[in-house]
Amino acid sequence: MKTRAAVCRAFGAPLTVETVELAEPGPGEVLIKTAACAICHSDIFYMDGAWGGELPAVYGHEASGVVEAVGAGVNRLKAGDPVVATLIRNCGFCPACAEGAPVFCEEVFPLDLETPLADGAGKPLAHGLRTGAFAEHMVVDQSQAVAIPKDMPFDSAALIACGVLTGFGAVVNTAKVKAGSSVVVIGCGGVGLNSIQGARLSGCSPIIAVDVEPGKLAAAREFGATHTINARGEDVGARVAELTGGRKADAVFVTVGVKGAAEQGVSLMKRNGAAVLVGMPPSGVMAWIDPGYLAADGQRILGSKMGSARPLIDVPMIVALYREGRLKLDELISGRYRLEAINEAVASSRSGAALRNVIVF
Ligand SMILES: [Zn+2]
Ligand SMILES: [Zn+2]
Repeated sequence: MKTRAAVCRAFGAPLTVETVELAEPGPGEVLIKTAACAICHSDIFYMDGAWGGELPAVYGHEASGVVEAVGAGVNRLKAGDPVVATLIRNCGFCPACAEGAPVFCEEVFPLDLETPLADGAGKPLAHGLRTGAFAEHMVVDQSQAVAIPKDMPFDSAALIACGVLTGFGAVVNTAKVKAGSSVVVIGCGGVGLNSIQGARLSGCSPIIAVDVEPGKLAAAREFGATHTINARGEDVGARVAELTGGRKADAVFVTVGVKGAAEQGVSLMKRNGAAVLVGMPPSGVMAWIDPGYLAADGQRILGSKMGSARPLIDVPMIVALYREGRLKLDELISGRYRLEAINEAVASSRSGAALRNVIVF
């Protein structure tokens, strides 16, 4: 079928909105009419070539929509179902899936081997971040689509697919923080604000937010931070020590992909504490740690991929918390844009001022 998509033809260049060809869903796959797709910093890293990858490509992976057709063997979803679409493609049966870590699924899927997208001239377009959701339609494996209630707004639902799963999950799933734990969150964008919400819902205290944008620090307070530190001008280490009785934090969440933030995060955990690295810097960036201190202080550095999410459990849980008014989603949206204006949306996300910009279809 024909659909329209924002195509990246050269790293660092604006996306071009083109009519493209999308294959019918194969066995186990679903065709989704996209309703909303937010712009995540991972999309921008890929557009800039920071993580390599094939071109031309269609990115976009924080999405929601309505199932339009299903391939052979799909019985969990049917046409008309509203869904959140994530990049977590998983089989359910490999050792990683069996141990509850579908983000590390080992299975190779037909969509991993052949893209469903081609341009007007028939040239293959990479299925960016396994989703290709900067497009009016997408084809994904059924494991990537999770049904949501019919009255859930699509723009807010889209955010769950990456930023919310990642930020909230880092706190609740990866670090499994306890009530009363002291928490520092570095970076208060679309991921960090969700780490703050996870810490608030887990009963953590204090919840200390660190950023360099006053607007984002104000948002952090709205989302549950008890204290904020502007790293541009304030001594972050001294302030965290002061707010934690000199001990520093039980858990530190580094939600930005910046070397200095990772190093600072490691320096802010207390003895026997944990630093959770969530943001991914460009490939090849190295950070410095002192292994002696880490060993002597019994500290842990944890990586958190996609918030260690199990989409079939975490998406409905987040939807339920949202519907109870206990988790904010609507407030994460800074701007809504049409697909034709995607480069404007990207520029605004890149500037650091936006929480989340969403393409609405
Ligand atoms: Zn993302
Ligand atoms: Zn698997």
